[in-house]
Amino acid sequence: MDKTQYKGVYVFVEQREGVIQNVALELLNKARELAGTLNEKVCAILCGYNVSAMAQEVIAYGADIVLCVDAPELEHYVTEPYVQAVAKILKDRKPSVVLIGATTIGRDLGPRLSARMETGLTADCTALAVSDDGDLLMTRPAFGGNLMATIICKEHRPQMSTVRPGVMRMGTKDTNRTGDVERVEINFDSSRFKVKILETVKEQKDKIDITEAKILVSGGRGVGNVETFKLLDELAKTINAEISSSRAMVDAGLVSHDRQVGQTGKTVRPDVYFALGISGAIQHLAGMEESDYIIAINKDKYAPIFQVADLGIVGDVKQIVPLLTARLKK
Ligand SMILES: Cc1cc2nc3c(=O)[nH]c(=O)nc-3n(C[C@H](O)[C@H](O)[C@H](O)COP(=O)(O)OP(=O)(O)OC[C@H]3O[C@@H](n4cnc5c(N)ncnc54)[C@H](O)[C@@H]3O)c2cc1C
Repeated sequence: MDKTQYKGVYVFVEQREGVIQNVALELLNKARELAGTLNEKVCAILCGYNVSAMAQEVIAYGADIVLCVDAPELEHYVTEPYVQAVAKILKDRKPSVVLIGATTIGRDLGPRLSARMETGLTADCTALAVSDDGDLLMTRPAFGGNLMATIICKEHRPQMSTVRPGVMRMGTKDTNRTGDVERVEINFDSSRFKVKILETVKEQKDKIDITEAKILVSGGRGVGNVETFKLLDELAKTINAEISSSRAMVDAGLVSHDRQVGQTGKTVRPDVYFALGISGAIQHLAGMEESDYIIAINKDKYAPIFQVADLGIVGDVKQIVPLLTARLKK
């Protein structure tokens, strides 16, 4: 395989009902950095129906070229039409790198695409860089999160990677950036469309998305039971924060899974993260260590959480949290 034929860092820009998902903007920022090192262009793939107007937004966040597939077949996400559209682009354009958000859609699309392109895909990457040889270094947790493995796709192109929302940092929007928008026509093979959407039933949720919260009050096993967890609610209310937790509390049924932080939960990056009665297992750290300011309270002064904390308080959460809340109320 002649690697020099493959050029460009491509990002699949996921949109839902006309709203570009944050993960796509985060990936565009990362793609800019990688493309800068490789001296290549950032190319966005924007699929959907009536989505062309979004191209400018994609350019403002870092794309040099937007390949827009605007077709009724792509109105709602269904695997086969999306795979046909994106695979056609990848076959025709021969990118070197393809980045996809590790959302429910990306996790479905990515593997199918990599199989059709006969290349590898590294899922849930936490870091991406370029080697001296120009290969993509894709780092992700391995062996239950106890090791970080850096994977290289040496023999095949494109090099494909999925990245979870919140892992990469979003760039600033620059409305003065310019780029090219190309409309791509796809001759869909509808004989391969085996799935039809008959109805969309939206989950009723008043839940918040912890990845959007500015302050998170996160509780772990050290918080104990429902009664003591109320202390955390009180603190969160006082400082306008949201509650999140370690997996231990989710497993104990005290907190719903959508509030779990970590490798098998969500990756968060709030301004302030309170880690209360959380030991700081590597799988938890993977989801929160990029927070701007980490305040940890733990009665064990050797708890690993203190290694990532900006402010560490050794003590009992049951005593300290009410005092903290009372002081903050004042
Ligand atoms: C494949 C895999 C994926 C995983 N994914 C995740 C994940 O996404 N998120 C996640 O969180 N975990 C995950 N885990 C589990 C993880 O390994 C830990 O078991 C978990 O994070 C521990 O939660 P914890 O810190 O609340 O509990 P513990 O590790 O039991 O820690 C409790 C802490 O509270 C302190 N403490 C006790 N009482 C008090 C008190 N009164 N006051 C102050 N401190 C007190 C203790 O000193 C201790 O440090 C995963 C594990 C595996 C194998």
